Amino acid sequence: MTRRQINLYSPRSRTPVSPRQTRSRPLLHRARLVIPITQPPIEDGAVVVADGRILDVGPFPLIRRQWPEASARDHDETALLPTLVNGHAHLDLSALAGQIHSKKGMAEWIRSLLAAREQLDEDDLQKARALARDSLRAFGTGIVGDITSSEIHPGGKFNEVVITQTFVEVFGLHCQSLEVAIDQLPPGTRKSLANNQENVSLAAHAPYTTSATLLRQVKEWGTARDKIVSIHAAESEEEILFLNSGRGPLRDLLEERGHEPDRWEVPGCGTITYLDRLGFLDSHTLCVHAVQLSEEELPILRRSGAGVCLCPRSNLFIGHGLPPVQQLLEAQIPCSIGTDSLASNTDLNLFEEMTVLMEECSIHPDAVLTMATLNGARNLGMASQYGSLEKGKRWLAIRVAATDSEGIVAAGRQGALEWVS
Ligand SMILES: [Zn+2]
Repeated sequence: MTRRQINLYSPRSRTPVSPRQTRSRPLLHRARLVIPITQPPIEDGAVVVADGRILDVGPFPLIRRQWPEASARDHDETALLPTLVNGHAHLDLSALAGQIHSKKGMAEWIRSLLAAREQLDEDDLQKARALARDSLRAFGTGIVGDITSSEIHPGGKFNEVVITQTFVEVFGLHCQSLEVAIDQLPPGTRKSLANNQENVSLAAHAPYTTSATLLRQVKEWGTARDKIVSIHAAESEEEILFLNSGRGPLRDLLEERGHEPDRWEVPGCGTITYLDRLGFLDSHTLCVHAVQLSEEELPILRRSGAGVCLCPRSNLFIGHGLPPVQQLLEAQIPCSIGTDSLASNTDLNLFEEMTVLMEECSIHPDAVLTMATLNGARNLGMASQYGSLEKGKRWLAIRVAATDSEGIVAAGRQGALEWVS
């Protein structure tokens, strides 16, 4: 007798009804290790799926008994885990791979990037963007937080397999109106913002390129629409020097580019303090980098509820050193992981970022996997649907040729993974 029959003839059955309302026959995925993220890894685990939704997760023998009608797929000696979330990338800059000098500091990196970008045409950009998307997919990333100021592709997604949360970037050191900043964007992007398109939000570039008024207006825009807004924050010593004194290499760069840095009102404090004063920080803010934090700023960040996206290899590439990851995690600040762009990284393999966090910052493999999945989804506002293998969430998962957390990261670096459908 199947469970469907039991339900029909036994009205007092405690079997939940909702999973049976799915149109497709449930499929049971069994693997040596299931990594739900929101609960400890399950040896000999199983996930039941139908119509793209997770119906159940648990130990295989128990799940098999509870779902006798489900067809089964055995993934043998592998680990099943949710898709990775790359919390911060600039796919538009992918054509700059290998062209920018490393370890010369922030101002010099920006100079080098602007010069190289002028040499590229639209065709180069499109090809590199497509390759970058394929590369994300090849290394198990199914969701990306992408910063852009160019045209947004229809639907806010590059294709069906890499879900994109787009942050449209605005800046202007003396700009006093978000409307004016948005007016400078391509027409399709303006339309996406005007239509309040799902998965499209705003980012302020950085505190040293965006006026206080514009920062406030970006935050107000996000709050009115219940959207997460993003900013590059506390990335370099040069940034902190400029915010404190109005001097240094970033001032010189802004002067060179005609942005009149001496007209800017110097806040005289660190980035997090400044953003907090402006009301920019709350649970719907994503601060990218957070390398340069003073002791007083950690509690400010924690109280605000803002998320942080760490991009450790980008920080090393430009020469900033690494963020205070242990302190951020101890302060229970939700930290996700991003690759940043190929202008400051060698590839878009999130497992490589995890390796740096494990080896250079002594972060446990379970913690880095949480950062690369659930925290990534949380910081992009997608945790109700993605980021873990939990009942009710969408089924977007990979299998990796490994049987423990550390092995998952090591195998993922090598691309020893497959998508599971
Ligand atoms: Zn960035």
